[in-house]
Amino acid sequence: MYKKIIAFLVFGLFAYSCATVPLSGRRQLSIVSNAEVLPLSYDQYGEVLKESKILTDTPEGRQVVTVGRRIASAVEKYLEENDLSDITKGFAWEFNLIESEQVNAWCMPGGKVAFYTGILPICQDDTGIAVVMGHEVAHAIANHARERMSQGMVANGLLGGLQAAMGENPSLTQTIFLQAVGFGGQVGMLKFSRDQELEADQLGLIFMAIAGYDPREAPIFWERMNAQSSGQRPPEFLSTHPGPERRIDQLNEQMGKALEYYEASGR
Ligand SMILES: [Zn+2]
Repeated sequence: MYKKIIAFLVFGLFAYSCATVPLSGRRQLSIVSNAEVLPLSYDQYGEVLKESKILTDTPEGRQVVTVGRRIASAVEKYLEENDLSDITKGFAWEFNLIESEQVNAWCMPGGKVAFYTGILPICQDDTGIAVVMGHEVAHAIANHARERMSQGMVANGLLGGLQAAMGENPSLTQTIFLQAVGFGGQVGMLKFSRDQELEADQLGLIFMAIAGYDPREAPIFWERMNAQSSGQRPPEFLSTHPGPERRIDQLNEQMGKALEYYEASGR
């Protein structure tokens, strides 16, 4: 009986507190708002920057910033044209290159991006960086961390929203947030679901194309990433992502649409 009531409550909550992911159209659970999550995200990003060596004045550092800004403008343009600008309300885009051997990159809620120098040899050039940038930014646009946080709160019976949860159990709520943005374990290890990863690929492909980067490079990038992982130690970036064949198939399925956006970009 108890279980039935919980199932009913969760179902009711889902029907009531739902958001729609742009481009994919998927409905997702969302019981926390950006207004609540973004301050937590900005604090956490600040902590990471404090603990890291940031390469601001190197050619690579500037390259990451340049590609990041171009992708962010493409995203804003897409959202504006589709009357979805609310999605990035309160965003404070920022792009930083961190010196680290880790093959990794991520984007926290609100557009706070970090690239690790370890991923640049696989990116090779601006277009390779744009593949990763598009994918990571897509996680933020699709509100994947907020979705995971909502799921974590529901799973822990915190159904009253973030303010109430913070009052009820602040340390558990903080832990759920850190896990949702990938800082529950090792720093920078994002733990999105496989479906969220494929969705980030789907959105990221379109975003890079709107920004004028050739989307046909995306599957080629993932081939390189795959080759890298056949070494002794798979890169962290791959350990939390879906199998390379599945993601390359999906990218190729969506290439026609991406190429339309690429051609319209006029680059
Ligand atoms: Zn991802």
